[in-house]
Amino acid sequence: MKTIFKSYKFRIDPTKDQQVLLSKHFGACRFIFNHYLNERKDEYLNNKNTLNYHDNANNLTQLKKDENYIWLKEINSQSLQSTLKHLDISYNRFFRRQSKFPKFKNKYTKQSFTIPQSITIEEEQLWIPKFKQGIKIKLHREIEGKIMFGTISKTVTNKYYISMTCEVQHQQYEKTNSNVGIDTGLKDLAILSDGKVYENIKTLKKNLKKLKFNQRQFSKKQKESKNRLDQKLKVAILHERITNVRRDYLHKVTTEIVKNHDIICIEDLAVKNLMKNHKLALSFADVGLGELYSMLEYKSNWNDKTVIMIDRFFPSSKMCNICNYIKDDLTLKDREWTCPSCNTNHNRDLNASLNILNQGLKILSGSGIESDIKQKQGESSSVEEVVNLETTTSLV
Ligand SMILES: [Zn+2]
Repeated sequence: MKTIFKSYKFRIDPTKDQQVLLSKHFGACRFIFNHYLNERKDEYLNNKNTLNYHDNANNLTQLKKDENYIWLKEINSQSLQSTLKHLDISYNRFFRRQSKFPKFKNKYTKQSFTIPQSITIEEEQLWIPKFKQGIKIKLHREIEGKIMFGTISKTVTNKYYISMTCEVQHQQYEKTNSNVGIDTGLKDLAILSDGKVYENIKTLKKNLKKLKFNQRQFSKKQKESKNRLDQKLKVAILHERITNVRRDYLHKVTTEIVKNHDIICIEDLAVKNLMKNHKLALSFADVGLGELYSMLEYKSNWNDKTVIMIDRFFPSSKMCNICNYIKDDLTLKDREWTCPSCNTNHNRDLNASLNILNQGLKILSGSGIESDIKQKQGESSSVEEVVNLETTTSLV
């Protein structure tokens, strides 16, 4: 058993009154974020002084006593404090040069607020502080573990969701003594060194075509027209559908890989990105490789399996996995080739995945070049880290 954090996302269906109160929460948290971002900026410009979370939180306590801000009393005070924490994290990331300076929030993008505790679900109803009635929730799957915190959001398509992070005691998958190399591609999503191929799904292709068509229609519509707004909604709905279909498929694929294999070798995505041209870049984004990688990593982590990233330029396609001959003139169009040195006939992707497996195992045994690799193995994030950052990386 291992303690892991799982995130769930469910659609919720608030009544008219509940929508009003949710709207007040979105607005108040946005207000607090912007207000204290401004205050921090002013303090720095005027006094060269940096305010921290506690300065802001003390000030908020005073602000709530001011009768001009009496409306803040309707809002879950923990959500407001959590907004200040978000602001603080954004600030710290900026100073550590990990991200850009925090931006003021506006109400035209996705809206959200965080509930750091006291979330319960009973009989298809979601109970959160400040709401006298439960909010109808569509539980399409069973929740495991104890709910730690959650975020309620409203999309531009006017749908409401809650994502929750739960602490779960996870029964790990059995060891299989099997190792695998994975090549990711354009035609197929993933080609495994044991011959298994995961295709890109066709429904996704169809929807992507539709999306491109609708995006073109959207850009043709007159600015500020109702038609344009309708078209924007259509595009957003398609985006959601594509994301959902893709995520379900990626979950199926990654669970299967992690169940079936103990050591999973794969080329680092960043390196892969370097090797492709712009036209290919779009297709890569389409198949959601980033999501595939992140799922493989956290599911391996949950199950004490190992992901080995091959983190340098490695000629996985051009090298013969039998005799290590490198065929420099191999082009992207060559799906099959014969090694001039040992006469082996290769399927391009299968050969690549076998090379990736070999290289990964070399790295693991210590004969790979140490500085070139990044081995990710069983490091679990601490509770604090997860709760503080309120990450939702492990959406299940
Ligand atoms: Zn050869």
